[in-house]
Amino acid sequence: MAIQTLLAARLFDGTGDVEIQDAFIQIEDGKVKAVGRRADLGSASANARDLGDATILPGLVNMHTHLTLSGSMQCLHDALYDTYEIKMMRAVEHARQALESGVTTIRDCGTLNPIIFSIREASKAGLITAPHVWASGDVLTSTGGHCYFFGAECDTVDDVRKAVREQVKAGADFVKVMATGGGLTPNTNPREAQFDREAMRAIVEDSKRLGRHVAAHCHGTPGIYNAIDAEVRTIEHCSFMVPNGVKYEQEAADGIAEKGIYVCPTIGVGERARQHMEDQGIPNPFAATRHQRIDDMRKLVASGVKFVSGNDAGVTMTGFDDFQLDLELLVEHIGMSSADAIVTATGRAAEAIGSEEFGTLQPGRRADVLAVHGNALDDIGALRKIMVVMKSGEVVVDRT
Ligand SMILES: [Zn+2]
Repeated sequence: MAIQTLLAARLFDGTGDVEIQDAFIQIEDGKVKAVGRRADLGSASANARDLGDATILPGLVNMHTHLTLSGSMQCLHDALYDTYEIKMMRAVEHARQALESGVTTIRDCGTLNPIIFSIREASKAGLITAPHVWASGDVLTSTGGHCYFFGAECDTVDDVRKAVREQVKAGADFVKVMATGGGLTPNTNPREAQFDREAMRAIVEDSKRLGRHVAAHCHGTPGIYNAIDAEVRTIEHCSFMVPNGVKYEQEAADGIAEKGIYVCPTIGVGERARQHMEDQGIPNPFAATRHQRIDDMRKLVASGVKFVSGNDAGVTMTGFDDFQLDLELLVEHIGMSSADAIVTATGRAAEAIGSEEFGTLQPGRRADVLAVHGNALDDIGALRKIMVVMKSGEVVVDRT
């Protein structure tokens, strides 16, 4: 395949260290061949495509999605009553939306095994327009526990070991466990743990043995402590819920930082629903805890906890084409620089997944490339002004 060369006013490589003005990127055989300054390109610049006042950066990695969930106000109803075929069609459509909005990799944190692993293979084979997929498939949850409708229900240490093995056998890239209940699922308790410490340890041990990471959904603080004790790879949400509300615990933050556990705060989840309810004058029980949650997330970052970004796409009013909202909120509310926010969805996301194949524009990595109008390092809003999306060197969106 011929070498493709793009030029732009700036390039950000996703590691957080490299920002090049008047930059080029060369792509060959679906991989990044080189990045550098245009001046160093010499005669090779003659065949280059100049994007002008644009930012070239790695394609985004959405670290938390559920491809079959509808994202509607009736998302639980849809999950329970959609036919299997409708779920599959939703997943195909959502995957397309994600890729066309600049998300070149999704880490799916819970979708029925046959659907998600088929989407992953169809994406690989080029049968559908979809990002690269890194998927857990069915989640490990307790009997009747959070998201049991796409879950492997398991309770005891023996159960959970078998569930891990069955998931790996089915094709799971990582293991997702619902360490606490969740808001979406009736008759679960988000504030309490769903598994005891022994079961959580067994999940992580057996996953490690099989070369898989564990992502733990944690709203309640008891679940957060269990996840820290078991040394999961990522904690999802990290909501610090206690029986009478929300209470940040520095001891937990320190434990997370010390063990190098990544937190995916899903910071934008509920944001569009909140805006919608405010516009309609509908009372919103979560509005009261919103400021506290933002404050807690700031404290986590200040404690040295490494954030990755995922928006929980598929849950109530949370879109697959709206992942940029999470990065905007990190800048607006947590006070991150645009560059740091982008790192949570590029270089650090790949690091949390444990891959050196994507996530940055270093030579040899997959050419998953995003180009946007303007300067995304000054203005995070520029991430929505998409010019080009490339997946493994192939142009899937071209709006130049
Ligand atoms: Zn989720």
